[in-house]
Amino acid sequence: MSPTSDDEPYVDRHLYVEEIISMWNLSKIVRELGNRDQCVAFAEAQGLMPTEKLCRTHRTPMLIAASTNRSFGSWVCHKRTCKRKNKVARTNGTFFENVKIALIHVFYLIYAFAYKMDYKTVLREDPFKEEKQKCLSRATVGDCTITAGSQ
Ligand SMILES: [Zn+2]
Repeated sequence: MSPTSDDEPYVDRHLYVEEIISMWNLSKIVRELGNRDQCVAFAEAQGLMPTEKLCRTHRTPMLIAASTNRSFGSWVCHKRTCKRKNKVARTNGTFFENVKIALIHVFYLIYAFAYKMDYKTVLREDPFKEEKQKCLSRATVGDCTITAGSQ
C-alpha cells in the first residue's frame, strides 16, 4: 500500500512530520499573517485578490494606490485624462468587498472558524488584542461562529 495514494481516507492515516509542521496554528498566523502587508501578499498569492486590472477606458494596466492601513488600496489609471474617474476599490467584487475589520483579524477569524472556536475562545486567543488594545465585537465574531454552529 502506497502511503501517498490519493485513495486513502484523510482521517485514517498518520500524518507525516512535514504535514504536521506545515499545518496552521496560532503562532503561524501571527508570524505569517501578522500585519497588513503579509495579509495582502497572502491574499494575492492565494488568488483571493487580483494583482492586475485594465482601465475600462484606456485598456491599459492600472496602478495600485495605497489607502487606509486596513485595506488593499484602489485601482487607479495613470492616464491624465481619467486620473480619478475610473478609480475603484481593489476589494470590489472580491471576498473582501464588505469586510469592515482589519485584515489580520479576517485571517484570524477564518482560522477560528475552521477550528470551530467558540466566542470566548476567539476573544481570548485573539493574537492582536493587546497590540490593538481592544477586542473583537460579538457581532463580528458572531458572523463567523454562527455559521460554524458553535455559538
Ligand atoms: Zn484610464
